[in-house]
Amino acid sequence: MTSAETRFIFITGGVVSSLGKGIAAASIGRLLVARGFDVQLQKFDPYINVDPGTMSPYQHGEVFVTEDGAETDLDLGHYERFTDANTSRASNVTAGGIYNAVIRRERRGDYLGATVQVVPHITDEIKQRIKLMAESSEVDFVITEIGGTVGDIESLPFLEAIRQFPVAVGRRRCMFIHLTLVPYVGHAGELKTKPTQHSVNELRRIGIAPDMVVCRSESVLSAEIRQKIALFASLPVQAVVSARDVPDIYLVPLVFRSEGVDDFILHEHFGLGAPEPDLSGWESITQRAAEAEGRVRIALVGKYVRLEDAYLSVVEALRHSGIHHGCKVQIDWVDSEAVGDPELAGRLAEADGILIPGGFGGRGFEGKIRAAQIARERRIPFLGICLGMHVAVSEFARHVAGMGGANSTEMDPETPYPVIDLLPEQKEIADMGGTMRLGADPIKLHEDTAVRDLYGEAVIYERHRHRYEVNNHLRRRLETAGLVCSGTSPDERLVEVIELRSDAHPFYVASQYHPEFKSRPERPAPLFRQFVGAALAHALAAELPAGREGAHPAPPVGAT
Ligand code: GLN
Repeated sequence: MTSAETRFIFITGGVVSSLGKGIAAASIGRLLVARGFDVQLQKFDPYINVDPGTMSPYQHGEVFVTEDGAETDLDLGHYERFTDANTSRASNVTAGGIYNAVIRRERRGDYLGATVQVVPHITDEIKQRIKLMAESSEVDFVITEIGGTVGDIESLPFLEAIRQFPVAVGRRRCMFIHLTLVPYVGHAGELKTKPTQHSVNELRRIGIAPDMVVCRSESVLSAEIRQKIALFASLPVQAVVSARDVPDIYLVPLVFRSEGVDDFILHEHFGLGAPEPDLSGWESITQRAAEAEGRVRIALVGKYVRLEDAYLSVVEALRHSGIHHGCKVQIDWVDSEAVGDPELAGRLAEADGILIPGGFGGRGFEGKIRAAQIARERRIPFLGICLGMHVAVSEFARHVAGMGGANSTEMDPETPYPVIDLLPEQKEIADMGGTMRLGADPIKLHEDTAVRDLYGEAVIYERHRHRYEVNNHLRRRLETAGLVCSGTSPDERLVEVIELRSDAHPFYVASQYHPEFKSRPERPAPLFRQFVGAALAHALAAELPAGREGAHPAPPVGAT
């Protein structure tokens, strides 16, 4: 289909934030994919940062990295996991990015003679980004989610741009979907529609009449409430969707399907014919998730454990792997700054698997070293990611390869053994935003390694977000002591993934890249899949009667 036939769906939110607009957008995307359409999703964020790469995870949650190396909003992770299509740099646009582009053009003299204004210059730039998405991918549908809540000062230029958008492409190629909250007021014993009325009115005030209203609520909306909302929103009653709370986000596309969301969008709104959706794969995933019987406890050791969203893709990749193995993954959030606490160390020793995700800066680093040591010595399945690999290499250097005080120069610039160091090209860089090694690169997996067997391929592509690398001057010494470099860049200059040999440990793997970004419900990332499989084996072995623990009885904590 050419871009002249692309349809545009805009998703706005009202009443309160955190209603799950990203998941609603992703779920609509999933349904359209299931009906045979090509879909691209896009997120507009109204803040001034050019991208979220420099924000604290506590401000923003995880920074999701795309294949082409953009640091983006975590909703793009939902888009990829739900639609099974990669997003790109064009999929996340911030107010800062828009202003940056317009101001650069102004300085270049492109607008000579003109006063540069929000309307039309900023709004034109925003509309251009929507069109670009359609043109670059030639998809059937572009779904654009507008971050923030209707009524925010910051969102106005974006809302004005989408109000204008139908003028350029035709109203019949556009659809506006508004997500609101219908709260349950306990003492009145009923669901209240007033906030939705206000929110729809606010949207109309800026010139947008929604074509569908999706109502989040604790329970299903009654026919009476639907009619009430339909009446004041001037919509047919089928355009009022009840999005009741569900225990698993992967159920949302199925709820939307049962509410007729895709039928309304395709047949009623756009007048398009389409085959019935094939959701069998998706249904079986949600069913397997609900029926999972086994249980594994994974200790996730990090600095931002008070906010689950800070590690969203890691959590999802663990869930995908749990679904694959038919077990529930229970995450034990361990604050890396508190690992010195004997009770916490004991909890780690009893985990079925230990995972150290990515991170920045020295706070909590020694706690992570201790966690990696416990995993290695007690033969607890271990997965380290990015900073987690720096931890694993430093720990191995210190306690196995005889390099006392080994460290990453990110944590200790004076370390006698800088086993992890800045790349020479990174030493020249002064700017912090967007200057890391970012995005997917080819990785050569070496013969006779567990990781190569796991992927079943000699060359893989995985995504990166880091500045520091294994130091080649000390690499031989680490390898001689037993550290296996299972994968490198094709020129062998950069270590990409390491492991311990199977006679030393049942599963001890750490990667410089972030496997979590490519994990999908239908296709868990191989490293996560095997990690959870090994954790399950560990959990089962622990249940065996004493004396039958198998080939690797665990030595006491602290032994090297
Ligand atoms: N701070 C480390 C680096 O910059 C690791 C980054 C990460 O874990 N994403 O190399």
